[in-house]
Amino acid sequence: MKIQSAAIPLQMVNDTTTEKQGVRLFVLRLDLNHPDISGNKLYKLKYNLQEAEKLGKDTVLTFGGAFSNHIAATAAAGKEYGFKTIGIIRGEEYSELNPTLKFAKECGMELIYVSRKDYKNKNIPAFSNFQIDKFSNYYLVPEGGANELGIKGCTEITKSILVDFDYVCCSCGTGATLTGIILSLKENQKAIGFQILKGENYIKQEVEGWLRKFNHPIKDNYSIEESYHLGGYAKVNPELFSFVERFNKENEIPLDYVYEGKMMFGIYDMIEKGYFEKGKTIVAVHGGGLQGNKGFDKVRTGK
Ligand SMILES: *Cc1c(COP(=O)(O)O)cnc(C)c1O
Repeated sequence: MKIQSAAIPLQMVNDTTTEKQGVRLFVLRLDLNHPDISGNKLYKLKYNLQEAEKLGKDTVLTFGGAFSNHIAATAAAGKEYGFKTIGIIRGEEYSELNPTLKFAKECGMELIYVSRKDYKNKNIPAFSNFQIDKFSNYYLVPEGGANELGIKGCTEITKSILVDFDYVCCSCGTGATLTGIILSLKENQKAIGFQILKGENYIKQEVEGWLRKFNHPIKDNYSIEESYHLGGYAKVNPELFSFVERFNKENEIPLDYVYEGKMMFGIYDMIEKGYFEKGKTIVAVHGGGLQGNKGFDKVRTGK
């Protein structure tokens, strides 16, 4: 099975902020790699789907919240590559499906709802037996596609960066993408992860755990910014909305509010504060996720 991605543009962003501080900023447009299996999720699914095929599994089972990019991507990938898909969704079922779940269902995903309390226990065996026993012959992809094969896929992200760079930035939900990027860094290159959920040292610990699994030394060639989550996962404010709107208007790059909007907000704040020395080249990895923005229409417009 060959998993295809379109060519990935590296788009230069040039505005008063980058000019004033004398840095070069590029955006790696993973959001354009596939219409539905967008962004870093394609990388995380790639080797998982190949493994599922190798093991002769006809079904892929995974987990996610009701607006999850990973759920949407897995459903689309199942349709494209011929797997049945099952999504275990956190929270109760609503009579009207939100755009993410509607899309997943249209791709053929079977949706199973579990309470938030049960969902918390999703990784313990009792939960698996209780919820999943009725399905057989499935291949399990963890929430967010975060496992070793997912990380292996993410080591290929930097291959599309065809300029010499000093810093590569990505947003972090599970830390799998950041780990893959760290594993692929060359000497003198640094990775910066932007944690988009609350929790002191949360991504730091996840990433250190993964790096140990890969027998990779834990060095100082990466850092994690914990101060741009705006209060927690999917928490937004008017400042973020106006930043994303302005950034899109100036550069024609749409950003999602959960991940890349917060990352880019953070990058600009750091550029303005002089974090990056003059002459440095920064690459921001745009991990896609735009399908999730529909869920913010009401808060954003106040209607
Ligand atoms: C899932 C996702 C992330 C987070 O990736 P992790 O590997 O879980 O850290 C970042 N950006 C977007 C758009 C995503 O959909």
